[in-house]
Amino acid sequence: MKYESVIGLEVHVELKTKTKIFCGCSTEFGAEPNTHVCPVCLGLPGVLPVLNKEVLHYAVKAGLALHCDILPFSKFDRKNYYYPDLPKNFQTSQFDLPICKGGYIDIDVDGKQRRIHLTRIHMEEDAGKLVHSGGSIANSDSTSVDYNRTGVPLLEIVGEPELRSGAEARAYLEKLRSIMQYLGVSDCRLEEGSMRCDANISVRPVGSDKLGTKTEIKNINSFSAVQKGIEYEAVRQAQILDEGGTIQQATRGWDEAKGITILQRVKEGDSDYRYFPEPDLIPIEVSPEYIEQVRQELPEMPDARCPRFQDELGLSEYDANLLTLEKQTADYFEAVVKEGVDAKEAANW
Ligand SMILES: [Zn+2]
Repeated sequence: MKYESVIGLEVHVELKTKTKIFCGCSTEFGAEPNTHVCPVCLGLPGVLPVLNKEVLHYAVKAGLALHCDILPFSKFDRKNYYYPDLPKNFQTSQFDLPICKGGYIDIDVDGKQRRIHLTRIHMEEDAGKLVHSGGSIANSDSTSVDYNRTGVPLLEIVGEPELRSGAEARAYLEKLRSIMQYLGVSDCRLEEGSMRCDANISVRPVGSDKLGTKTEIKNINSFSAVQKGIEYEAVRQAQILDEGGTIQQATRGWDEAKGITILQRVKEGDSDYRYFPEPDLIPIEVSPEYIEQVRQELPEMPDARCPRFQDELGLSEYDANLLTLEKQTADYFEAVVKEGVDAKEAANW
């Protein structure tokens, strides 16, 4: 039987603010363990969090660049679960009233253009980091916790399950990174964990509009791994269905060395996080004037800049695409052309 893949990505990007989301601790990467901590991000009793206004600013900026609706009224909620990297035993996140809803990302794969819709974007705090003595949990005698990352601001960008291949998922992620970098809100370095991606994937017979049972590939840390992991999973699931089997709803990990996904844990329905409104933070009200003010700050985005390079400077679509992928490169190219250098020559160089 012929199958098609149904893929949705959940992407976390770490915001490049100087301080954490609810306290004044530094967000700098690579410091000595547990040196960027305070009673607020350690969740000690009696402390009160205060929202870093730059986090809201970046969230609105990202939402506008991704064509989302900015909600005039949103709030924070507690997502309750226990894990050693989470000192409060809940993550402050947004549940039913996120800062942004809707929106889309346009992608181009082999000349075929597609618009992938977004479900929502919400603000939340990062958890700490477990450091295993032996490098991995399997061969360690002990594990330490570094809380420097606890409370670093994140945006979670949830896409609709409209992607159909590993190549499309990769293009979506690369486009998202390019947009975030243009805005200056995140470095989006997958290898440092400032951009993280979970992929949900299921397959179904071509022509069917029923969703199959999905598996989730967690914490994929490179663009090629996103593509390869999804491609592997699509083939694995199709083989099971062809043999008359059923797909097990599960979380799987990508093993880069072996080029396969590995079962991590079986899921029996969704976890119940007992979300409830965060009583220590006031709801967020965003005025139309504020949204307009942030809109004025948006730089020319790659979707506008790429066709302009073709129209104004006579570049090929390929050259224009390549040059506008990173803002720095595009800025530099434009500065060179402004000095009187031929655009095509400058592009080739
Ligand atoms: Zn702190």
